Amino acid sequence: PEPSVVNLNSLLRSVVTLVPSATRDRPYRLKLELAPDLEPVLADPIKLQECLVNLVNNAIEAGPGPGFREVDILVVTRTRDHRTEVAVRDRGPGISPGLREQIFQPLFTTKGAGTGLGLSICQSIIEELNGHLWVEANEPGPGVTFHLQLPALSS
Ligand code: ADP
Ligand code: MG
Repeated sequence: PEPSVVNLNSLLRSVVTLVPSATRDRPYRLKLELAPDLEPVLADPIKLQECLVNLVNNAIEAGPGPGFREVDILVVTRTRDHRTEVAVRDRGPGISPGLREQIFQPLFTTKGAGTGLGLSICQSIIEELNGHLWVEANEPGPGVTFHLQLPALSS
C-alpha cells in the first residue's frame, strides 16, 4: 500500500477504542498525553496501528506491578528534532535486563498463548520507515516504557 500522511494522535485515539475487546476485559487505566503540535509521519496507517495495538496489549497483558492493584498505562506523544515519538509506559512487573533484547526476536514469548511475533513485527515496521523502537526500564520503577520514534513528515 502507498504510504500516507498519518497523524499518530488520531491513530492512538482510535487504537485505544480497539484495545478492550482484544484483551479479555482486564481492568486497566489508560491515559493519553498527546502533543497538540505533533508532526505527522509518512507510513501505512494499518501497519502502524498493528504496532500500537501490540504495544498497548502487551502493557495490559503484563498486569499490575508489585504493590499495584490496577494496570496503569500512560501514552505520550511529542515531536522533537524532526522526530515524532510515542512512548507507552506501564507500571507492570518489568522486563529483566537479560531479556530486553530477546523480546524483539521473532517467536520469543513468555506467555502461554503468546505468538512472540508482536514486537519483532513492530520493530520491522518501524525500522522500514527509518525509525527506532526500543524499551527502557522506568526510573523509578516499576514497569517499562516502549519508545517508538519516526522521522517527522517535514524532516
Ligand atoms: P507476545 O505478546 O505474543 O508474547 P511480543 O513480541 O508482543 O509477543 O512480546 C514478547 C515478550 O516480551 C512477551 O511475551 C513478554 O515477555 C515481553 N513483554 C513485551 N511487552 C512487555 C511489557 N510491557 N512488560 C513486560 N514484558 C513485556
Ligand atoms: Mg504481544
